[in-house]
This record gives sequence, C-alpha cells and structure tokens, in this order.
Amino acid sequence: MSSTNTSTPTILVTGGAGYIGSHAVLALEQAGYQVVILDSLEYGHQELVEQHLNAKLIKGNTTDRALLDQVFTQYKFAAVMHFAAYIAVGESVTAPADYYRNNVYGTLNLLQAMEAAGVKRFVFSSTCAIYGPPKTVPIPEDHPKNPISPYASSKLMVEMMLKDFQKAYGLQSVCFRYFNAAGADPQGRLGEDHNPETHLIPLVLQTALGKRDHISIYGTDYPTRDGTCIRDYIHVADLANAHVKGVQYLIDGGETTFINLGNGSGFTVREVIEAARQVTEHPIPAVECERRPGDPPSLIGSSDHAREHLGWVPQYADLEIIIGHAWQWHQKRHG
Ligand code: UDP
Repeated sequence: MSSTNTSTPTILVTGGAGYIGSHAVLALEQAGYQVVILDSLEYGHQELVEQHLNAKLIKGNTTDRALLDQVFTQYKFAAVMHFAAYIAVGESVTAPADYYRNNVYGTLNLLQAMEAAGVKRFVFSSTCAIYGPPKTVPIPEDHPKNPISPYASSKLMVEMMLKDFQKAYGLQSVCFRYFNAAGADPQGRLGEDHNPETHLIPLVLQTALGKRDHISIYGTDYPTRDGTCIRDYIHVADLANAHVKGVQYLIDGGETTFINLGNGSGFTVREVIEAARQVTEHPIPAVECERRPGDPPSLIGSSDHAREHLGWVPQYADLEIIIGHAWQWHQKRHG
C-alpha cells in the first residue's frame, strides 16, 4: 500500500481533470486532503491538473476493473468522489449505449472495486435532470423522478443502485443533484472548457470574445417572465465546497442522502445575456431561434437540505459574480 501521509485522508476523484471534478480536487486539497485522480482524459485537461493541482493523475476508465483493483491496492482511500461520466444530453439520445456503458456500467464496476477493497464512502455527481419537467418549483429532493433522456436515466439508475448498495453492503453515499454549474475558480486557475461546447454561459462569453457571431436564444415563447427558459446557475466553487462537506459528512458517520445543489433562484436566457453584456462590456449579438427539444421552461432547485444537513452556504450566488469569474477564465484561456 503506497504513498501518502497516513494521517491525511486520501480521496479518489474520478473525472478529476474535468470541469466540476477539477474544482472539487482544488477544494479538497485546500481543505487538507490528498487526492488521486482517475481520468480517461477523453475530455479532461491534463495540463490543468499538472499546473494547478497536487493530485497524482492516473489515466484510465472506470470500466477497466483490473486498473481499478490495482489503484485500490496501491492506495487506501477514505472515500471516492465520482465525476467521470458522459454529460451531453443530446448525444445520449443518439448514442444511449455509450451512456449506459460509461455512466452505469462504469459506476457499477467502480462500486464493486470499492466493495472488494472495503471502501464504504461515495460522493456521486448526479443531476437535476432526473426530475424531468418540474411539477413544483423550487424542486425539492422528493419530487417525482421522470428522466427524459438516456443521460438523466443513467444518473437515476446509479442513484437506485446506491440505495440498494447501502442496504446490502453498507455503502454510504451522498448524491449531489446539480442545477446549472457555471463560473470558474475565482483565482482564474481552472474553468469550463468543453469541446464541443453546448452550455449557455460559455457560448455567450465566446461570443463576447468574438469567437462566435452571435448567441442563439433557444425559444422565446416559454411561459416565463420574458419568454425564455429559466435556470438556476450555481457557481462551480460552491459546488466544489459542497463536495468537501459531503466527504466530511460521510467520514463523520453520515448515511446515504440525496441533495440538490442550486441557488434557489433562476435567471432567464435573456437575463444571462444581459448580465454578460454588463460584465464584459461587449454587445453580444443575440438571435432568437426555435426551442431546443427537451428543455423544460423553468428549473430551480430547493437547497434547504444542503443548508440544513451539510451547513452549506453558497458564497457566489450573484449571477454577475458567476459570469465575472467565467469571463476572467475565458479571456485567459481563449482570449
Ligand atoms: N441556451 C440557449 N442558447 C444556447 C445554449 C443554451 O438559449 O446556445 C438555453 C437552453 O435552451 C437552456 C439554457 O440556455 O434553456 C441553459 O442551457 P445549458 O445548455 O447551459 O444548460 P441545461 O439547462 O441544458 O443543463
């Protein structure tokens, strides 16, 4: 059994070279944990790990059981944080097998490797997409689950496995259901860099940088205050801090729980674009387009559970601050 200082808990972070995962690794390191990253690097950014994180990076996939067994033999982990997954909703509709293999089978493989190694704490990256079109807003955790894409189904399947694994094997987990992750490390070290990019805020900022002619507004006839979709944008550093609190909750003996992470307030697409115009001082041309299939009009999360059970308080709830940090990152990365 290798490495690492025996007095400092070591956490395995899968997908730690990705957007949310890398911010979680940074937050774990700032909180004094040691981190080992497992990342396939299909979408992750090795150079960001090397430049800004102390973690050991192992290249590999959760579907590789032999590799997992080797990693769990080499290190003694206090917990596993699992971000590695495919995340593109539209692609999941056309290539569902990839999503079920990577997101469901890969996670099952990881859980079995953990069970074999006696690791009993798991923090899981889930999504508000498992709720489907909301029946109540803000959405509480006990809202009915009606996933409408293979991506969302794959995340809900893992949540169901985690309930069963708690009963059968005593695995304790925290499932975080994110609303719209946005922003970047306030110090500008890490940020969002998906390829292809589909998310609103990065696309708006690429338009501000002149990399795109305009931003498309998908749908202006929704039953919302200005006809465009409302989303709950949550700063990635606040998400990352919630994950550190989730690990601590499990180390302190906490049991399996399911927790929304959002700010509890929403902004329309037009409001996001206008806020970005203010922050960047660029005109950001916008073109009104047809609705994008599968977009619910409004998604806002109730985060009472996170506040009550984890003592989590978002530090960067202000939309202009979220966009400001993302802008700082985009200028540095793509400017
Ligand atoms: N959106 C948009 N134009 C874009 C990308 C997104 O109008 O180029 C809208 C999208 O329809 C949704 C909101 O912005 O209502 C947030 O979309 P995003 O893809 O960022 O996150 P999602 O809510 O799909 O997870």
